[in-house]
Parts: sequence; structure tokens; C-alpha cells
Amino acid sequence: MLATATLLSCNTSQKLATKLQTYDEKVNYEEFFTDNTMRFDFHHSGDSQQEFYYFDKVIREGVWAGSRVSLINPFDYGEQHFRIIDKSTGKVIYKNNYCTLFNEWQTTPEASVTSRSFPEGVIFPEPIKDFGIEFYARNKQTKEWEKRYTQDVCINDYNIAPQKTQHECIDIHIGGDIAHSLDIVLLPDGFTADEKEKFLESCRMWSDALFSYAPFTQNTHRINIRAVWAASNEKGISEPGIDKWVDNLLGTRFYTLNSERYQMTEEFQTVRDIAASAPYESIFILTNTDKYGGGGIYNFYGLGSAGDTGRTGEVYVHEFGHSLMGLGDEYIEIGNTVSALYPAGKEPWEANLTRFVEFEDKWEDMIAEGTPMPTIAPEDSTEKEWAIGAYEGGGYLEKGIYRGWPECMMKALTDFCPVCQRAISKYLDYICK
Ligand SMILES: [Zn+2]
Repeated sequence: MLATATLLSCNTSQKLATKLQTYDEKVNYEEFFTDNTMRFDFHHSGDSQQEFYYFDKVIREGVWAGSRVSLINPFDYGEQHFRIIDKSTGKVIYKNNYCTLFNEWQTTPEASVTSRSFPEGVIFPEPIKDFGIEFYARNKQTKEWEKRYTQDVCINDYNIAPQKTQHECIDIHIGGDIAHSLDIVLLPDGFTADEKEKFLESCRMWSDALFSYAPFTQNTHRINIRAVWAASNEKGISEPGIDKWVDNLLGTRFYTLNSERYQMTEEFQTVRDIAASAPYESIFILTNTDKYGGGGIYNFYGLGSAGDTGRTGEVYVHEFGHSLMGLGDEYIEIGNTVSALYPAGKEPWEANLTRFVEFEDKWEDMIAEGTPMPTIAPEDSTEKEWAIGAYEGGGYLEKGIYRGWPECMMKALTDFCPVCQRAISKYLDYICK
């Protein structure tokens, strides 16, 4: 029997600043969702000042790997968030936050003279009934959330596509059941058909690296790591700056945003197509190159070179700190005093950086009474002599921004600092509920 045709986009609108809708934070999963994943693909377009969203497609994917309790992300992280609204009750039934490569591109000189479009897609548990999706972005100056796009989706629409090809999914580390664990999927890029074992060896190394750093060491029982095996036509990674182009699976390349070591892909929907062969919440791409480089964007994906034997493990974990929960870089670029990312007078949303605007939401409670503020580590002092405090410099800036500890995985690829460790643990508690 033919299903009745319904319009996929019952109602679409591009909107500017609208007051945030309030939402009930308790959602009964079984009342609103099936066991599966739904994906909403769109194009994120604009320039340095404006952004627009253009609908692409809706896809039904495999089993939902996220929590069935934590459905409304309470952490105010990221430059973007989206909400799923149950149409019959108007209730917000899902919310998640993230950042994108488009957001980073908006800060480049190119974005002030041209417009571009990036393919994007978000995943959420499949609603049982018709729903609306709303996209929010932070205002560039005020950092306040503004509603930018809404669209309704009819759940019986025959245009909702099935998942693409299922690839082989291999367990690397299984700690717990999918609903109560962080589910990470590792994807290969630039590995040819005869290099499956090389990729899997990199995956085992990735897993060993992650679990060698606290607080991941203490959380092996609630983290799952799976690999999806899919070969590339050609070996390696593109390097446009030296006219090297490779026909690889995910389109990864160096020279992202014209920065040689910045290795990413702009083909995010392809990344999601391949990731869908595993139950997943968090994506990390391993590239078949020994050239140093990588990247990580909050709730988008992380990426690292599989063959850079020098510092590969540390780079993996550093980039994963970005992609899992948007930890900020704590390092300083000497002489850098102004940043569009961290405007003066606005609290960074990253858990490990502060400008003392909303310090009470960060790690103020971890600082012992009598600790000098700002805090300075005595010269030639060792870790044993350090105190949790507010050390000046971070987020690429020398002045006016503070971190909680002299060194960190997010600064110099050492152990995570106490502030990051607590923030990661809290985030895992939320994801694994
Ligand atoms: Zn840190």
C-alpha cells in the first residue's frame, strides 16, 4: 500500500533574534522516540557576519547510541545548538550543542569578502510523531543565543531516506551498554583496500592513548570505541598547498582554512554516512599520513594523523578534548592581545577558560582560600608546588584570559589539568546517565 504523500517541509523560516523558548528538562524517552537515530542534513552558509541554513535531507539511521535520560544538553557550550520540538504538544524533547568548521571559517579574512556554504548534519533519536527542528547560533558580539532557522518534518514523509551502505563495524573497546556509555566511532581516511590491519592497529593505539590519561583511565567501563572499515580509492591525504590531491574516502586535507597543519574535511555529510555503520555519539577520523597535524571541533568530529609516530597519542587526546566537549586551547600566542573568538568582557563558553565574568560557573569553587588571584607559578617550580588558581594566558591570548593550572593536555600535551579533569568527568556523567 502506498503511503499518503506529505510535504517534508510543512513550514520553513529563516529568522533573526527571537527570545529563547523555555523547555521542560524532563523528557520521557519512550513517549517521544523510537529506538533509532534520525539525521537532519542541511547547508550552513553565509559570510563573516551572517549565517543561513538551507535544508538538504532527512535520513533514518541505525540504533540510537545516546542516553535515554540525558536528552536536553544543559552545558552552555558551543557556537550552535538545535532543538527538536514535538508538534502536538510544543514541548522541547531534545537539545544538543555543537560547533562547526563553518563557524571557524567565519573568522578568516576570506569570510569578510566572500560567501560560502558547508554541508552539515545533526543526529538525534527518531521522534515517533511529527516534529520541528530549530537551529540557534550565538550572536557574534553579545554571545547570546539567537534562533536562526526552523523547519517542520512529517514523520511519514516518503522522502525520508534510508541509511546508505552498511560498512564493517569492529569493536576496539567495549566498556558498557550503548545507552549508558560514551560511544566513539573511529573512521579511516586515505587507507586503501589492503591496509585494513594498519588502520585497526591505529585504532588500538588511539584507544590505548585515550585510556592512559585521567579521567579516561577511570572510565573504561563506560566508554565504547568502535571502528568502521571503509577503504579509500587512493592512499593518503590531500595537500593543496603543494598541489597534492588524493581521491580518499572522506575528503580530508591539510591546509584547511589556509593553515598548513590544520587537517580537516569539509565533507561532513560523507563523514556521517560512514559513521552510521556504528552506533555512535562522537566521531574521530584517523588519516593515513605521517605528517603532523589534526583538528577537533565540539560535537562535530576530531581528526589526527595515524602515522605520526612522534606525538600521535597526545595529539589524538588533545583533539578529542576539543571534539568531545569543546575544551579550549590553553596555550598562548606571544604578542596576541585581541581575539574575535574571545571578545573582552564576555565569558568564554569553554569550561577551562575564564575572563572572570561568570567565574562562579567555572572552577572558582576548586580554589583554596588565600590563593593569590591571578595566580603565578614560582619559577622552576614543579607540579607538586602548584595550586589550582587563575593563571593568565590561554585561548591564544597573552592577557585578560585565565586558565586553572600552569600546564595541561590542552596547552602542552601533558596530563589534563585538574579543571579539565573535573569538567570531562561531569560531561561523562551526563552522557552516560
Ligand atoms: Zn586544562
